[in-house]
Amino acid sequence: MVGEAKLVQALPWLAEPLSQALATARSHALLVQGPAGVGQFDLALLLAQAWLCEAQLLSDQHRPGPACGHCASCLLFQSHTHPDFQLLLPDALRESLGWAQEAETGRDGEPKASKTKPSREIKIDAVRAMLNFTQVTSARGRAKVVVVYPAEALNNVAANALLKTLEEPGGLLRFVLASNSPEGLLPTIRSRCQPLPLGLPARQPSLQWLSEQGVEGAEVLLMAAGGRPQEARDWFEAGLRASAWQALPQRMARGEAAALADWPLPRAIDALQRLCHDLLRRSHGAAPTYFAAESLPTPSLAAPLHGWDAALRRAARHAEHPLNAGLLMESLFAQGRQALLDATPRRA
Ligand SMILES: [Zn+2]
Repeated sequence: MVGEAKLVQALPWLAEPLSQALATARSHALLVQGPAGVGQFDLALLLAQAWLCEAQLLSDQHRPGPACGHCASCLLFQSHTHPDFQLLLPDALRESLGWAQEAETGRDGEPKASKTKPSREIKIDAVRAMLNFTQVTSARGRAKVVVVYPAEALNNVAANALLKTLEEPGGLLRFVLASNSPEGLLPTIRSRCQPLPLGLPARQPSLQWLSEQGVEGAEVLLMAAGGRPQEARDWFEAGLRASAWQALPQRMARGEAAALADWPLPRAIDALQRLCHDLLRRSHGAAPTYFAAESLPTPSLAAPLHGWDAALRRAARHAEHPLNAGLLMESLFAQGRQALLDATPRRA
């Protein structure tokens, strides 16, 4: 269930951006944009539910508020069966976002063969089905809303098919696109949407939410995730512990590749990139971003770390198809250890 009231409570930092968006939305198409892991998808759903909410009919039409959470429309929305709502998601995200039902059955109601890997793209078929939806009259007469997330998952054909409707939508039709990388969208898509930036939430509500989610060591993990609370929660659920994160700099300094042996390679390389980033900041005398200062060595030279940084970037590009993940990690740790030694010259 994704009840509106529950969502605002669950992601407390969205209440303010939501009322801002409801008050300032002038366009029939909004583009929620900002870093991943701060609740863009949730905000898009909150907007959709608010526009569809029928309790709004009784209040001031010109200043819509958040959805009520208990009218007939809200109940339909929360049970994922609202006839005036369409959601475009890549199949690969449906399960993790709690919208799996639609993907499990084919058009005839038969379960789909699940041999193929779920797609990370939003394909033309999904956009065509959505365009059919935009042609029919609103079932409940309040609004019709389409949410697209993440918008950069629209492949080119799908994005082009969407353009015309985005430009001239029917009367009650509204769109919310949400994107983690708006630069990856067609400029023609971007230019048809009113931008709605969603930045990093404040630290205190993020920490409070994380502890409500049962995340231990929330301060360390929120910092590890660069201030993105949903990412910190996902990492915790994937097994990352604050103690392991805090120990990583010292274990890297000793060349212990085993420190990240249990991690999927892309995430392990990402962790080393964050460490390298922080070591570089330290070498310039700046405060670290991802690690607590007391858990970090203090290199005094930046140059040796740049070589490690470049090696990590090369490794990240091939992280999905490594020839030998174990050897690669051994080598990245060895390079990191040496770079750190070279960056920390001993006084004679
Ligand atoms: Zn309602």
